Amino acid sequence: MQREECVMKVPLLDLQAQLEYLENDLLAAVTRVVRSTRYIQGPEVEALESEVAAYCRAEWGIGVTSGTDALLVALMALGIGPGDRVLTTPYSFFATMGVILRLGALPVFADIEPAGFNIDPEKMAEALAADRQKTIKAIIPVHLYGQCAAMAAIMDLAAQYDLPVIEDAAQAIGAQYPWPGKGEAYRAGSMGLAGCFSFFPSKNLGGIGDGGMVVSSDQAFARKIAMLRNHGAEPKYYHSLIGGNFRLDPIQAAALRVKLPYLEGWHHRRRENAARYNQLFSETGLVAGGEVVLPVELYRSEAAASGKGGNSHIYNQYVLRVQRRDALRDWLLAAEIGCEIYYPVPLHQQQCLATSGISCHCPEAELAAATTIALPIYPELRPEMQAFVVEKIVQFYGR
Ligand SMILES: *Cc1c(COP(=O)(O)O)cnc(C)c1O
Repeated sequence: MQREECVMKVPLLDLQAQLEYLENDLLAAVTRVVRSTRYIQGPEVEALESEVAAYCRAEWGIGVTSGTDALLVALMALGIGPGDRVLTTPYSFFATMGVILRLGALPVFADIEPAGFNIDPEKMAEALAADRQKTIKAIIPVHLYGQCAAMAAIMDLAAQYDLPVIEDAAQAIGAQYPWPGKGEAYRAGSMGLAGCFSFFPSKNLGGIGDGGMVVSSDQAFARKIAMLRNHGAEPKYYHSLIGGNFRLDPIQAAALRVKLPYLEGWHHRRRENAARYNQLFSETGLVAGGEVVLPVELYRSEAAASGKGGNSHIYNQYVLRVQRRDALRDWLLAAEIGCEIYYPVPLHQQQCLATSGISCHCPEAELAAATTIALPIYPELRPEMQAFVVEKIVQFYGR
């Protein structure tokens, strides 16, 4: 088979397009690490930690092996274990729930609110009120697709029940949340006790392999995370905590430092692409006809409100609700248009929970899993590619 035949006309993500302008700098960064012989921790990791923390408007950053391990180590630092429960969303990537289960704890699910696909504070309040034994020990909201959960209401509940909040901000680095009554918008990951980020290559800030970070403005908590990621040792070979090897690789740190200065520009391009899709879809009649429901931006950042841009939503994914979703997906793939379903099975229905006795009345999560589809939105996507995607969808619905 020829290579051309394997390449989608419009891929879901095109890292090759990024390499056209990043390759030299990435290779130089990797070479710099190779030549330094600083292969564990060291200056590249430390520099990235301060740069990402500053970008997220948090005090400290601790580089870790992945977004999953960022969540795991944050829950370890809270001492979550058997008998504990953690309140979270049923509609996320598996890692959000996986880390809870791996520590021997159990998830409690509160359904999502349909407009933003994030955990619904009203459903959270019900779950917390029903927890008479006080087994819920932490809350993990997820900022899905790049838009923050309703953090003001979530932090109010957390204060009322005296619970720590660990933000799963894996898809939302740089997303802003205009806190009611505050002058400056907060950034994802800086509102709870800690924020967890992933540098998986498909995230807005992606490495050249796995990587992650925890950010926190709580010094004691940040120190504990820093110890836990290195076997709980401080100083070396003296272990007051049981941690693990969750260290971020310096090659990843160096590559991420090449990419970080581009991040705001990439967010901007993704937002432009989203606006262009919205415009194109609105012109087709599919929105008015109800075949397609566009993504909703719930917040406007101060910068956006004053016409200066701003990233209330960073569009890690551009996700539609559509009719006849599975048939549309097959149609798009046949037309060589990359698309994906995030996520086809809500967490409470995953098979690994089948015998756990965990249940949840989460109709909104189930509906989202059955009706949503993500389209290509990456920064280098070109207008004519977007027009082609929309044209194919119009054909599918026979408009
Ligand atoms: C990507 C992702 C993770 C896990 O990150 P990895 O770096 O792949 O381990 C966790 N939560 C959410 C919501 C994610 O999208």
